Amino acid sequence: MLKLPTGLSIYFARNLTVSRKIACYRHIVAIESINYTVYCPAMSSAHDILHSIFGFSSFRPPQDQIIDALILGDDALVLMPTGGGKSLCYQIPALVREGCGVVISPLIALMQDQVSAMRLLGVRASFLNSTLSTAEAREIERALLAGELDLLYIAPERFTQANTLRLLREAPISLFAIDEAHCVSQWGHDFRADYLKLSLLHELFPEIPRIALTATADARTRTEIISRLQLEEAGQFIAGFDRPNICYRIALKHNAKQQFLKFLKDEHANDAGIVYCLSRKKTEDIAYWLQTQGFNALAYHAGLPAETRADHQSKFLRDEGVIIVATIAFGMGIDKPDVRFVAHLDLPKTIESYYQETGRAGRDGEPADAWMIYGLQDVIKLRQMMEGSAGSEEYKRAEQHRLNAMLGLCEITSCRRQALLGYFDDEMEHACGNCDCCLEPPQTWDGTEAARKALSVTYRTNQRFGVNHLIDVLRGAENDKVFQFDHHRLASHGIGQELDNNQWRSVFRQLVARGYLSVDLERFGALRLEESCRPLLRGEESIQLRVDVKQKTAKRQTKTPLAADVDVALWEALRECRRQFAEDKGVPPYVIFHDSALQEMCVNLPQDMDAFGMVSGVGERKLEKYGPAFLRVITDHLA
Ligand code: ADP
Ligand code: ZN
Repeated sequence: MLKLPTGLSIYFARNLTVSRKIACYRHIVAIESINYTVYCPAMSSAHDILHSIFGFSSFRPPQDQIIDALILGDDALVLMPTGGGKSLCYQIPALVREGCGVVISPLIALMQDQVSAMRLLGVRASFLNSTLSTAEAREIERALLAGELDLLYIAPERFTQANTLRLLREAPISLFAIDEAHCVSQWGHDFRADYLKLSLLHELFPEIPRIALTATADARTRTEIISRLQLEEAGQFIAGFDRPNICYRIALKHNAKQQFLKFLKDEHANDAGIVYCLSRKKTEDIAYWLQTQGFNALAYHAGLPAETRADHQSKFLRDEGVIIVATIAFGMGIDKPDVRFVAHLDLPKTIESYYQETGRAGRDGEPADAWMIYGLQDVIKLRQMMEGSAGSEEYKRAEQHRLNAMLGLCEITSCRRQALLGYFDDEMEHACGNCDCCLEPPQTWDGTEAARKALSVTYRTNQRFGVNHLIDVLRGAENDKVFQFDHHRLASHGIGQELDNNQWRSVFRQLVARGYLSVDLERFGALRLEESCRPLLRGEESIQLRVDVKQKTAKRQTKTPLAADVDVALWEALRECRRQFAEDKGVPPYVIFHDSALQEMCVNLPQDMDAFGMVSGVGERKLEKYGPAFLRVITDHLA
């Protein structure tokens, strides 16, 4: 029986083992001035674990608050940008609390890597999904029941099976983590029907804390997660959405392939990246074309055979410098930290998708590019797809609205990051200095007169013609179509000689993007006036338009993740050492050490185990296993 000194209360976290309580008690009693000590045993051990297992020196707020809440047995909803450090938020409480942390994740292809990464840190992790044999699954179930697991990853479809639920009811469980929680949202493109059944968790295991995590930022999805997963009582932890290391760049499309090639050759010749296209066919065409240009590029879309997809994904994760050309089917939860660029060759439908897709760049915090080109044709194509899709009128209107916001971001002349974050109600005071608009402020011109001409020619031709014909009329063309419709007699005919074809396209594009004109899809892309254009047409409002530049030269400040003063030979030698370990273990190189850890080694040149242990990301297990080999590389190099 333990006896507390007077004046001391200990607030133990719920669910601590007796032995841990005793350990905490001894720790406290060892402290001299105990009279007013309020000691949080759980947080201290969380800190120890952060340090000794993960090799990090401090939490990134609000990681500490989230971890604290879970350890105390509360539920949490976590919204954090990609790369923010969501995984630690459940991994550490799972280690502190008694029992096994159960992680529900839709990313079967990644479970193996996640588990390998945990095991390299000395954490007892396993997974249960359809890739296991019956015997393998049995063994894991046995280990779970015997309390031999710290973390268990389960696919959602497996989780909701009756026998899995039975198993979990008998096993010691420390917490449930619901990763990629936005999959519960029926509006999003990542919807998983099995996620709806996760409300069971609350009903079957009311005592066990739950944490739902997502990087999807919009408020509607957040509300849906809360209600579908019954997280009304959960603490909400919303980190800022900024990804400061990503440089946002959006340019006008004129010769997509040449523009893209120049970007790759100038800035990312040997880097891993993701290229997004709208159609399956286009991903294959672009991947093939990149191969002919000497790049290691692979296509990825839902129409490819499952083995091909798995093979391409694993090459992307394991080999260095692979480019994946994909539809939006690729990327959810892709954990590769060293993706140096995400390129959009087609316009995403919403700012949410743009943010999510670009967010896959630079998870390691090193400089990365979000590069996009777009044109009027993209807008027309997207509107067509939307119009043709199933869904209520209300849904279509909402989608239309979201596309308009995306277009607004493309045409904006002020800081893109401010606008992007503003969309998620995350206000940023100053312009960022790391987007194309900040690096090379776009020129604007007074487009009021031109806009009025464009609107009136649209009106006078009865809103029945597409942009090419309207430009012909404005520029005074005398061709068959003009004569056929008597358009040479219109007052608008020939009043737009001062601008060339491209300039007029730019005017029309910006009018569409800003919602003054809409595209009538029943009439093959005929332009129509919108209510909002009246003041402009009447001359009561003026408009500033963006000057289109042919080749954007804006570049982010730092080019490679390699700092300027790093010795390239040492860097390569360390990478080679890492590659060998990765190959031995059958894991991607970054699971051994991140680029940033190698870079720190290059800069700090640790020469003994103590110094090596100070490198960020080197915990006790990795120090012991890899320290000697990497130290040898460094000392050889210095000699
Ligand atoms: P998310 O799941 O939010 O996209 P991860 O959990 O994969 O992000 O973490 C992103 C990266 O940040 C990982 O490399 C992780 O090791 C690192 N990281 C997380 N928390 C910390 C921390 N407190 N200190 C240093 N690095 C951290
Ligand atoms: Zn900016």
